Amino acid sequence: MLSSLLAPALLSLVPTIPDSWAPPSKVVAASADGAWSVTITPGKCTACGPHHTGEHNGTHATAKLSGPKVEREFELQYALMPVTAALTGEGDLYCFDHWGQLGHGKCLVRYGADGNVRWSRTLEQVLTADQLKQVPQSISSRAWLRSETRVEESSDAVVVSLWNGDRLHLDRDTGASRYEEVTDHADDVWGWYLRSMDLQRQGKLDLALEPLDRAVDLELDRVDGYLQLAYLMALRGTQEDRAALLRYAIARTSGREAPEAGSDPRRNLHYQLATALIELEKSEEAREILEELLDASPIMDSAAAALVSMEFRAGNTARAEQWIRKSYDAHLAAAKDERRGLVDATMTAAYLCQQAGEDLRAGAWYQRALDRGLWDENLVMAYLSLLDGRLDRPRDASRVMGKLLARWRDLRSATQDPEHRAWWDERIADFEQRQKALDVRAKRQR
Ligand SMILES: [Zn+2]
Repeated sequence: MLSSLLAPALLSLVPTIPDSWAPPSKVVAASADGAWSVTITPGKCTACGPHHTGEHNGTHATAKLSGPKVEREFELQYALMPVTAALTGEGDLYCFDHWGQLGHGKCLVRYGADGNVRWSRTLEQVLTADQLKQVPQSISSRAWLRSETRVEESSDAVVVSLWNGDRLHLDRDTGASRYEEVTDHADDVWGWYLRSMDLQRQGKLDLALEPLDRAVDLELDRVDGYLQLAYLMALRGTQEDRAALLRYAIARTSGREAPEAGSDPRRNLHYQLATALIELEKSEEAREILEELLDASPIMDSAAAALVSMEFRAGNTARAEQWIRKSYDAHLAAAKDERRGLVDATMTAAYLCQQAGEDLRAGAWYQRALDRGLWDENLVMAYLSLLDGRLDRPRDASRVMGKLLARWRDLRSATQDPEHRAWWDERIADFEQRQKALDVRAKRQR
């Protein structure tokens, strides 16, 4: 029996791997029967790479092993630390990956209870060139092991789970490896999901659908897999393919209870379908879906933006404005206090206009808020960047900035603390410069 330990949550299941590693810390673990235990202390050698060469400039990781009538301390072939380790009932220690360099060098090592290396392997020795190509990579790492991999022991081998849900058998005596493709993951949600992602990466989209279905069957949250697949289809195939897959996913997941926590992930499927339909110029159907979404969840700004943009494009200005107003009201109602709500609602309305390319309307929303005395800084900055940028109205930007500066000067005079005053002075000086630059541009425009 084997216990698996150490593996910190460093691998994510999508093929991105962090390139920044926290320093390792000491780890204690025991064999499943409790007869053996090991304490692994990180090393401090920064000169040794994964191939264990170079001029050492510090100690290496050490293992302190105790078992029946055995106490032994020995150096491991890791400059810093192994990432994953497991201990057998015979006191054999299996180590996988070098800290900070997953998948490089001798990343599979078996130590005997006497501290000697029984065998070691590189990834090139256990995977084919084609398989290696599929392993998620970053600059520093090849994430060949499944996140929180299981290390299992059979009579003559240990078995580890790979990045794609498949398994690798390693002969205990010789280290000889056998690759096992796992086609049935039973109730292992992530196993199904990983298999689908792997097939997608290989471009086998047709085959990727079934394992994804199984994952979604087990856990509704995995609808993000459908979205990913639909996205890939849109990239490689057509919008029709994308819409068809999304329709399939919606049908497949309907009639199920929504997850308890958070918002229902299926909304995103509907939203994506609506955007595919807009691309396909099926606006009637898209409108219906988006309006339904907004009825159910009125502050879903992505849906509002798609709908408003669509209506403006079709020349249905009154309809577009009606939906902007609805979003505005919904944000106002959802806010805890009125001022916060007004700011939030105004910024949403302006955002919807800008997404639709209606910059003048967006500007009018900001201006209306300022006229009501709503000098919220985020709001003013958003307005200024619109005036100075897409609207190209430096004169108006300068006017707004002048009013902002007047308010800041008042705030500065009300401050007694010299440090706080100095902070205001710096800020005011900075914005006075910006105002001057705007005035120069305004003159040129004349
Ligand atoms: Zn070293």
